[in-house]
Amino acid sequence: MKEIRVCPYPFGRAHLGQRAFIPCCPDWLTPEYHRIPPSPDSWNGTAALELRRRILSGDYSLCNRQLCQAPLLTLSELEASPRAQPEAPVSRRNLEAMKAGLPRMPDGPPAISVSVDPRCNLACPSCRKGPIRRVTTEQQAILDRVASLLESSRESLQTVRLAGYGEALFSPFLRQLLKGLSRERYPNLDFVFLLTNGLLMNEMSFEDLKPGSDHIRRIAVSIDAGNAEIYRKVRGGDWNVLMKNLEWASGLRKSGRLDDFSISFVARETNFSTIPEFVSLGRSLGVDRILFSQFQDWGVMSRAEYEREAIHLPGHPKHRELLALYRQFREEPTVSFSISLADPEMAR
Ligand code: SF4
Repeated sequence: MKEIRVCPYPFGRAHLGQRAFIPCCPDWLTPEYHRIPPSPDSWNGTAALELRRRILSGDYSLCNRQLCQAPLLTLSELEASPRAQPEAPVSRRNLEAMKAGLPRMPDGPPAISVSVDPRCNLACPSCRKGPIRRVTTEQQAILDRVASLLESSRESLQTVRLAGYGEALFSPFLRQLLKGLSRERYPNLDFVFLLTNGLLMNEMSFEDLKPGSDHIRRIAVSIDAGNAEIYRKVRGGDWNVLMKNLEWASGLRKSGRLDDFSISFVARETNFSTIPEFVSLGRSLGVDRILFSQFQDWGVMSRAEYEREAIHLPGHPKHRELLALYRQFREEPTVSFSISLADPEMAR
């Protein structure tokens, strides 16, 4: 009988900060998944159990596989290589449960993604209406809860992913958390994956954030522009500082200090014409991956503004220009498009 292929994310990684269990990118899960009511124990709560139950039977109906490109593995492959997906390692006991077809995981998550603090040095118009430099009392209570959850996972924790909401190198909470990630406190810690806008990613901050920063082995920088002019429009940051910091991180990758270095770009009407420049930038930095994803409606813009920017929608007047760029770069090994484009030629 053909072995079922499973995605390791829901069995190896938990997201801290929101009420629902999110093992991967929230946009990769379907609206049906997001409608499952949250549970107090998110790791073994209703949503986690339902997602795992379906995946263990080969049913990916809660996943948007057009957007998600996570590789699927057989249980034998996972047994031979429990860290095959480095961001979602699977423990021995959890693997045994998977083999028995049980969705409840006996061990806590070996990987934790912390994406809770909205504070950021930028205020991109697609993400927020203005700068967020402080947290509310409610948000502080969530941060306190995250700190205690991390403390209770000290023994099992292997990988930590920061951040994806605010800026990890700007948030005082995340800086302190990162600084405290030592092998003395977290004996099984393998690596830290840093998601950042790159503007504070430099030697000085890494020095300040030791010993935790010594464990940063994967970095993804979200940029969304291929030149200074568009960067100013979509992110409002200093392109020259960014270039300097990217060169520095590229040097870390070339020296082997980092295992993975990628840059990302959310494609929209304002920036898509700079896709070729962005690919050239990635090539010159020698990154592992140049990631393109689609523009999501986070409810910050009006619906009309969003639709004007949402170039991935088939009805957008410039949709075909985006398709042409996709076709131009799709064969490039480092380029990855996580964009759902409704065109017969786009069928994967
Ligand atoms: S298959 Fe994709 S969407 Fe589904 S859980 Fe895995 S990473 Fe997430």
